[in-house]
Amino acid sequence: MSNQNISFYENVNRYFDQAAVYTNHPAALLEHVKQCNCTYRVEFPLRYDDGSIEIIYGWRVEHSHHKLPCKGGIRYALEVNEDEVQALAALMTYKCALVDVPFGGAKGGVKIDPRKYTPAQLERITRRYTHELIKKNFIGPAVDVPAPDYGTGEKEMAWIADTYLATHPSELNALGCVTGKPVAQGGIRGRREATGRGLFYALREACNQTDDMKSRGLSVGVAGKRCIIQGLGNVGSNFASIASKEGNIIITGIAEYEGGIFNGEGLDIDAVIKYRQENKSILNYPGAVSFANTGEVLEQECDVLVPAALENQITAENAPRIKAKVILEGANGPVTPDAEEILLQKGVLMIPDMYANAGGVIVSYFEWLKNLSHVRFGRLSQLAEEKSESKLLRAIEEATHYQFPEIERKYIVHGSDEYDLVVSGLEKTMIDAYMQILEIRAQKKLHNLRTAAYVSSIDKVATTYEQLGIFP
Ligand code: GLU
Repeated sequence: MSNQNISFYENVNRYFDQAAVYTNHPAALLEHVKQCNCTYRVEFPLRYDDGSIEIIYGWRVEHSHHKLPCKGGIRYALEVNEDEVQALAALMTYKCALVDVPFGGAKGGVKIDPRKYTPAQLERITRRYTHELIKKNFIGPAVDVPAPDYGTGEKEMAWIADTYLATHPSELNALGCVTGKPVAQGGIRGRREATGRGLFYALREACNQTDDMKSRGLSVGVAGKRCIIQGLGNVGSNFASIASKEGNIIITGIAEYEGGIFNGEGLDIDAVIKYRQENKSILNYPGAVSFANTGEVLEQECDVLVPAALENQITAENAPRIKAKVILEGANGPVTPDAEEILLQKGVLMIPDMYANAGGVIVSYFEWLKNLSHVRFGRLSQLAEEKSESKLLRAIEEATHYQFPEIERKYIVHGSDEYDLVVSGLEKTMIDAYMQILEIRAQKKLHNLRTAAYVSSIDKVATTYEQLGIFP
């Protein structure tokens, strides 16, 4: 699905330039913010059991060191190339700055199709790639902290952590060298669903803006919005399930690489996921129209389109046929600048990637803090909270002669555990960042949320450099 003829990094820089004119920083500083600080390319052999050897190619790009460590996922896909990793690293810088996560931006990629390798081969590739990063100091809790991305997950993060720990046995904070780990290996509850959950909060905030909804003929609030999703990976599937259960959003279409399905009445997302697992395809899902050409699904009638797969999915070619009134970017760079121009002219509200999919890195930040502090969030406070709520409840009961039913009592006195704290920290960060974007949009009289988001990020990164005394 990915369009290899379009330079993703150039596109990110076009978005940057469109916004930079609304800031007041010297040209040299803006150029410094824009460029990737370092690009590390690795190449290593993978030996097969029959003795044959395949050369594996990988990258790690650190886009900005204005804050340390650098942060960003590692992608396993055949489409991985230097331009893509640089673009994704740049987006990480802007994303972290926007949501006030104190990291520089980075990204990694290995050019493989992970489905073509056995778990043992994937483990060897991951451990060797980690060794390559260690050799050049491109990983570590204080320098550069990878995380999952397209084609990787908890399993790969556990191998990375284990490799790093084995080579740094006396480093106290070694577990903070990577995030998105399994909970049993220093991960945090709520990380797996974080990007999908953040995506839902982003949409909810956007749909709560009366003027933005009314001007597009949409009702205020997320409930009842009809939504098409591209990509049923970690981001798309968690978004779909949280959006339908917590927001009463109706999922009407799903596009995957094998094709897509559509039912204007709504799809049962859990049933679709189960069907796809059993049949290795979503095609012919009962009660929905199937499309062999996956792109067609994106062009069906809907309120919200959620591209949550790869970059360059909505281009100047298909943008004129998109009917959605809101585009929520679950993936990084799914809409090209040319396509965006067309969509904005049609009045589409664009909720940009650097904000919409920031939930992953926000919760990665919490995981890193947990690793550095060596304590689970809530461990010291949960019972104390419960006891004080209980006292308050008892005082109310005595004063009012009302006895709270057991179920209500339990709900009220529940002290926050790690998951509760992660979810509320994520929700608050998403709300605050949206308010910042809206403020800048109003201040600078912009029409596009993306430009406002970039202005916010560029200002923060440039100001940090200025404060460091590099650009007086
Ligand atoms: N890969 C995710 C992203 O693109 C998460 C990065 C992270 O948690 O560091 O935002």
